[in-house]
Amino acid sequence: MESQREFLDEKALVQMNPLEKRIFYWHIANSEYACGAPLEKVSASYWDQNEAIGQFDGRHSLLVDGAQKVVEAIAEDTTILLNKKVHKVKLIHRGVRVSLNDGTELEADKVLVTVPLAMLKKGNIQFEPPLPKRKADAIKRLGAGRIEKIAVAFPRCFWKDLKQKNPPVDYFAHVGPVEQRGLFHTIYDFTNRQDGSPKSFVLMSYVCGKSLEIFDKKTDDQVIKMFIETLRKLFPGKHIPKPVGQMVSRWGKDEDIGMSYSYMAVGSKPEDYDSMAAPVSDRIYFAGEATHRFFPQTMHGSYLSGIRATTWMLDDYLVDHTRSFSTL
Ligand SMILES: Cc1cc2nc3c(=O)[nH]c(=O)nc-3n(C[C@H](O)[C@H](O)[C@H](O)COP(=O)(O)OP(=O)(O)OC[C@H]3O[C@@H](n4cnc5c(N)ncnc54)[C@H](O)[C@@H]3O)c2cc1C
Repeated sequence: MESQREFLDEKALVQMNPLEKRIFYWHIANSEYACGAPLEKVSASYWDQNEAIGQFDGRHSLLVDGAQKVVEAIAEDTTILLNKKVHKVKLIHRGVRVSLNDGTELEADKVLVTVPLAMLKKGNIQFEPPLPKRKADAIKRLGAGRIEKIAVAFPRCFWKDLKQKNPPVDYFAHVGPVEQRGLFHTIYDFTNRQDGSPKSFVLMSYVCGKSLEIFDKKTDDQVIKMFIETLRKLFPGKHIPKPVGQMVSRWGKDEDIGMSYSYMAVGSKPEDYDSMAAPVSDRIYFAGEATHRFFPQTMHGSYLSGIRATTWMLDDYLVDHTRSFSTL
């Protein structure tokens, strides 16, 4: 951000008119959205370290019914205890004991910890013995980023001119004032058109960077009102109908989540992701987006880290249980 200030304001290396400057800051907002943090908190050296290997190719796809469907499919035939909070993970003789807030204690050969990085930072789970320094340092150094999401359902598709373009527009940019650049900078058409005629038409957008300070001071209704004001400016002369539904996420305030996704904070190193993933004593394993060096911040990173960790667990389990044969 220092070099950006120099570039634009102090040394005025590049002369921009007010519109060009707003468009430049739109791109800054887009990076702050991707990183989940204001740019001054992000490592200039490593912010995109994950791209050291090729990312997935192909078209983007939109989960219009939400990620729940994916989770449900993966969870099929699995026993899941809901509304149980882990507060302690302790290594015991040949295994691990997990203590839940309701007093239940569970014992297993091995456990997999998948709580968000923000919860590890807060120390919500006590590890006994404490986590090794390398992992504790990585937890401190990596950033727990935040963006929030809003969605509004309308009875009419007042943006249908955009849908009639060839190819149809699925999302569009909003170039707002520089100081509110993270407020609804991109707006997505989230209408579910899979079942024929949609019953309502949905627009979804994000809040990121410093604009979260504005968002945090507003109620859900006030946030939606600001969004509708933005739409009025983007579609002058169009009547914006009264919404028939709305949602506003508050991931930052959720006491079990507290973040959206990790980022390379100033002072963090790419190896911190490897330290996050490293098992402890071949009995406590870690997965989740903040453990995947090459696909952090994503659902697929989280999924792949789970496959990786369970493979390590099974490998180690087999080693543990075949050792008697190999030492004959
Ligand atoms: C607004 C937004 C937009 C996003 N857009 C995309 C996108 O377009 N594409 C994409 O791939 N990714 C996207 N992501 C990121 C993606 O959602 C996350 O990277 C992913 O969900 C992280 O999965 P996870 O399993 O690591 O953590 P989580 O899904 O956060 O799961 C961790 C679980 O641990 C539970 N937990 C916490 N504490 C405890 C405890 N003490 N005991 C027991 N359980 C506990 C939590 O309740 C939670 O269920 C987005 C995220 C946000 C917020």
